[in-house]
Amino acid sequence: MKSIIKTPATRAIYQHYINGTFYGSVPSGDYIEVLDPCTEEIIASVPRGGQEEADAAVDAAVAAQRHWSSLPSVERAKYLKAMANTIRENRVMLAETLAREQAKVKALAQVEIDVTAEYYDYYAGFARAYEGEIIQSDRVGEQIFLHKLPIGVVVGICPWNFPFFVMARKVAPSMLTGNTIVVKVSEEAPLTCLEFTKLLGSVNLPKGVLNVVCGYGNEVGEALTHNKNVGMISLTGSVDSGHKVMAAAAKNITKVSLELGGKAPAIVCEDADMEVAVNSIVASRIIYSGQVCNCAERVYVEEGVYDAFLEKLTTAMKAVKVGNASNDSGIDMSAQINQKQLDKISGMVDRAQAAGAKIATGGKKSTSFDKGYFYEPTVITNVKQDAEIMQKEVFGPVLPVMKVKDFDEALKLANDSEYGLTSAVYTRDINKMLRATKELNFGEVYFNRENFEAIQGFHAGWRKSGIGGADGKHGLEEYLQTKTIYIQQTS
Ligand code: NAD
Repeated sequence: MKSIIKTPATRAIYQHYINGTFYGSVPSGDYIEVLDPCTEEIIASVPRGGQEEADAAVDAAVAAQRHWSSLPSVERAKYLKAMANTIRENRVMLAETLAREQAKVKALAQVEIDVTAEYYDYYAGFARAYEGEIIQSDRVGEQIFLHKLPIGVVVGICPWNFPFFVMARKVAPSMLTGNTIVVKVSEEAPLTCLEFTKLLGSVNLPKGVLNVVCGYGNEVGEALTHNKNVGMISLTGSVDSGHKVMAAAAKNITKVSLELGGKAPAIVCEDADMEVAVNSIVASRIIYSGQVCNCAERVYVEEGVYDAFLEKLTTAMKAVKVGNASNDSGIDMSAQINQKQLDKISGMVDRAQAAGAKIATGGKKSTSFDKGYFYEPTVITNVKQDAEIMQKEVFGPVLPVMKVKDFDEALKLANDSEYGLTSAVYTRDINKMLRATKELNFGEVYFNRENFEAIQGFHAGWRKSGIGGADGKHGLEEYLQTKTIYIQQTS
């Protein structure tokens, strides 16, 4: 947890966005400092919300919901399109803010901003496409209709790793379907989302439809999850937070949608295109400095190609260029989000080594930078399946690699995980592909490419990786509830 200051100094100061106005006890009140992870410099202060802000935001969303849901969906879609346009008009400023607050390489930050604009447009396109049903009746003169209706007020709780995109993942389908929403931004990377609230004036969104609050999970976050007027909580975060949110939701039987952690296996078969396998696995591990839920966390390699693969992988990881996300160009990755994350990665690698693992490259905090939370791109061998490094999410630029005797063993070990988000297989053998399609127990299976989902797909984890999912037409359905109407004709 970052330190709290009572009175903000000269840095940028942000406020909550509740009921169409900026809200927060400036200049007094508790604030959370936001640091640049590359320089450890304090760049902004955001308010530390609690019960009062949570209640005010939910009350505003409740008050706005009836009118909002009464609008034709094409009218609601116009606001989504306006939000997309606003993002595009400010795409560079938003990407720079994102790159700085969370050490995301600028090119990737720009992709996140641009895809987010596309995401609002994509869901606006559903305005005339989602439908109810007419159901056959058993009775003469009766008609049965199934209406698809908004749930009411949604609470969207966001992580720090893709803060702007994940906010859209919750806001766009909620708003399109007639829900109103309270977003709880991450305390680690709130700034891009808060910059976006400052741009909403040009969208003329009715008050209370979208509210954004800041603060810690166990304060404002928890207050939101206990509120009885909330119809659905959508959390993207760690399994630990998933447990807590589910427990809080149980009190009011509030619907939950959980997008949680992952421990994605990558299987490299003897017949794989080695270049594709190495490039995809490296890209999957170093994208946003390894802090992506769906990307390769452990690699199983068939013994016939193990040595060749390991050599190529190690060479590629050694060649990864690391630098300051805001200032350096031509870099592949940057710092970890904070000291806690850096220490977590470092601790896991140290414990793996103590248990007998070998470091092929990397394996420690970077010494190339005076400041910042940098960790070296790392390859680890001699790991055991039951080791922490093979079972728990590292969320850093660290790849443990294990030799397996054949595809059967690879499938078995890949499935041996409490997580079930994504998986990948590198092979040109159609029979192996068909087997993996059937036998890998994960929400997504990628063949011969890096793990990264499409907005029209469905991103949904199995086991502890989550409940429900996001994106595409199935993601839209998450934000709808049904009402079945029986009408009997009388004579
Ligand atoms: P986190 O769980 O620490 O925090 C996520 C959000 O939950 C934050 O806004 C936090 O303040 C809030 N929160 C924490 N405790 C809460 C509580 N008791 N009540 C309400 N809110 C609470 O996760 P993080 O560190 O921000 O993000 C990294 C994690 O997110 C990783 O495990 C990663 O795999 C996962 N993730 C998953 C997906 C996915 O699509 N499955 C996408 C991105 C990130």
